[in-house]
Amino acid sequence: MSIDKRWIIVAVLAAAVAIFFWFDLGRYLSLEYVKAQQAQLEAWRAARPLAAAGVAFLAYVLVTALSLPGAAVMTLAVGAIFGLGWGLLLVSFASTIGATLAFLASRILFRNWVQSRFGDRLRALNAGIGKDGAFYLFTLRLVPVFPFFVINLAMGVTTIRTWTFYWVSQLGMLAGTLVYVNAGTQLARIDSLAGIASPGLIVSLALLGVFPLVARKLIEAFQARRVYARWQRPRRFDRNLVVIGAGSAGLVTAYIAAAVRAKVTLVEKHRMGGDCLNTGCVPSKALLRSAKLLSHIARASEFGIRRAEAEFDFADVMQRVQRVIGEIEPHDSIERYTGLGVDVVEGSARIVTPWEVEITRHDGSVQRLSTRSIVIASGARPFVPPIPGIDDVGYLTSDTVWDLRERPRRLVVLGGGPIGSELTQAFARLGSKVTQVEMMPRILAREDPEVSEIVTRRFESEGIDVLTGHTAKRFEIAGGVKTLIAEHEGREVRIPFDAVLVAVGRTANLAGFGLEELGVVTGRTVETNGFLQTNFPNIYAAGDVAGPYQFTHTASHQAWYAAVNALFDPIRKFRVDYSVIPWATFVDPEVARVGLSEQEARERGIAHEVTVYGIDDLDRAIADGEAHGFVKVLTVPGKDRILGVTIVGEHAGDLLAEYVLAMKHRIGLNRILGTIHIYPTMAEANKYAAGVWKRAHAPATVLNWLERFHGWRRGAGAAPAGAAKPLPPAPAAKER
Ligand SMILES: Cc1cc2nc3c(=O)[nH]c(=O)nc-3n(C[C@H](O)[C@H](O)[C@H](O)COP(=O)(O)OP(=O)(O)OC[C@H]3O[C@@H](n4cnc5c(N)ncnc54)[C@H](O)[C@@H]3O)c2cc1C
Repeated sequence: MSIDKRWIIVAVLAAAVAIFFWFDLGRYLSLEYVKAQQAQLEAWRAARPLAAAGVAFLAYVLVTALSLPGAAVMTLAVGAIFGLGWGLLLVSFASTIGATLAFLASRILFRNWVQSRFGDRLRALNAGIGKDGAFYLFTLRLVPVFPFFVINLAMGVTTIRTWTFYWVSQLGMLAGTLVYVNAGTQLARIDSLAGIASPGLIVSLALLGVFPLVARKLIEAFQARRVYARWQRPRRFDRNLVVIGAGSAGLVTAYIAAAVRAKVTLVEKHRMGGDCLNTGCVPSKALLRSAKLLSHIARASEFGIRRAEAEFDFADVMQRVQRVIGEIEPHDSIERYTGLGVDVVEGSARIVTPWEVEITRHDGSVQRLSTRSIVIASGARPFVPPIPGIDDVGYLTSDTVWDLRERPRRLVVLGGGPIGSELTQAFARLGSKVTQVEMMPRILAREDPEVSEIVTRRFESEGIDVLTGHTAKRFEIAGGVKTLIAEHEGREVRIPFDAVLVAVGRTANLAGFGLEELGVVTGRTVETNGFLQTNFPNIYAAGDVAGPYQFTHTASHQAWYAAVNALFDPIRKFRVDYSVIPWATFVDPEVARVGLSEQEARERGIAHEVTVYGIDDLDRAIADGEAHGFVKVLTVPGKDRILGVTIVGEHAGDLLAEYVLAMKHRIGLNRILGTIHIYPTMAEANKYAAGVWKRAHAPATVLNWLERFHGWRRGAGAAPAGAAKPLPPAPAAKER
């Protein structure tokens, strides 16, 4: 609705309320007045019943819609005049219609403002209203301690649907309405409103109010029992917990379980450490390190070194990657975990009943373990799209690329996400001619456009062909030449290559270990509630298989909740906290983010301010020859509370940690600014970003007065108001 129309509504409402108070219309809604007029009102109703009902109905709607005082007295009056049956009918509809009008007025006038200003903080409430709004409203309506008009206005700014609000209000208010209309039939005997709802009655209504919530819990418990109906629960269990998969999620789950002295078995069918150690974070970062060294050597002249050359064998670089894995391996080894008290079994796990896991060991022997709880941590694998010809040309994925010992001369990387981009740059720096193909208009599409632009520009300057807006259509192989045919703006583009790396996303490992047979609900991932429980409350999921994030740190974050909830429910369980989730893409320049990006804030209509500090200005970055990138901070308008941070630049992932801590513990920019940062470090960028924000919020009036004050102290006489100059430009970075 346009602002003009909203002002009209405000004016009409204000006028109506003003008339009510100006003419003291409230006196007609007092108990004494109604009692005095009872006989006349009854006579009027007897003479003209329809007109009387119509007037009473409209008056009731008006009073409730305008949130005016007097609804309780009106209810008594209606009871006195129309009796219990008709009175109840009349008040029930009039009060609900009036409440809905008040609700709509609040929605039109305030909801957008409230949601855009506090939307981020209201996210949990909105989700709760979306799921349980009817239950909450019903409770609020039944418990008479929550004022009628407050509920109408408050609900208006939430996301509850109008029809839901209407019918739940009508139903929820029925009991209270009945009490008051019934009391009205005895109007002559009522001396004050206070006596109508006795403490006993309020308690009864309150009990009635919480009933739906209790009922829901009972239904949930009943549903949980139903999923177990096909099986006999063992009386005793071999284990407290069986964990399936020894990747980031499974290892941490087992570690926590052992730390609290639970009997836990960890089953791994392939390699301890899962993807992160063997085919993910660790090898990719090791490869990127070698690639970065080469890029530095290529830039030697920038650093005053006349000539530097690198002589290397691709196979040696890949061998180093394996050495790095080997060095980290002991952290995730069977020996370490056994020493920690975990029973580690090498084999393939299969859930056979909600409390039993069958393990087929590598030697073919089978073991069946009963367990109180199970945590599924089976991870994810590269998704390979069914592009015609893909099997004929053969392809690499993040699982197999580490086996390469010969550098592909021409490499096509399918995918512009984090994994595709990291490997694109690594291979290009190692000497492959890389073409990155992405169907979206830009790479790293999850980040703000300027982030993609900086990375694309760097890629292109390093000789990478970045083909965005290109959709892979088919692969061909003719005369020994492999070609990808992509579509771009309606025409075909042919890209010859020697190897293709597919990095278009990862798909959760859901099949082949009993989930389908058991009936564990899955979509793209295993479906879990806020406690990481599947539809079988004793079976949990964590890590890539559960989503929504696919990072090692989120997998281990979830693992804590999965372990603790699996071991201590129903005594105590914790809802996973996803409020502050950081991540980084380790391209050069690095990209790191926590919280909202500018694009997300805009799309979700969340009010925000943007502060940007350019790292090209930072002394240490200049000294290091890495003067590029930025720190972008989103804050609540007019406040220093951080909504999100994006950093692009050298060591962005490490720099971000300060902001992650700040967001987690609600530390604002003022306090970051007031913290000493070592000079000269990259971390100073965080403080300078806070400084940019501070200058933009400098109190101009106070500064004008200060200028006059200093003038007066110099004996120069006060400058006329408003004559003060604008703030000077920013001083050199290190002085900020
Ligand atoms: C190239 C690449 C780079 C990455 N870089 C980063 C990064 O820099 N930072 C970051 O945070 N994340 C990164 N990731 C993501 C990270 O690797 C994953 O998010 C993380 O490994 C998920 O851990 P997980 O425990 O959920 O699954 P996984 O590590 O996949 O572990 C699952 C394990 O379960 C086992 N398993 C499955 N089914 C069974 C069964 N039935 N019985 C027994 N065992 C079973 C599997 O063998 C596997 O070992 C990267 C991923 C890739 C591919």
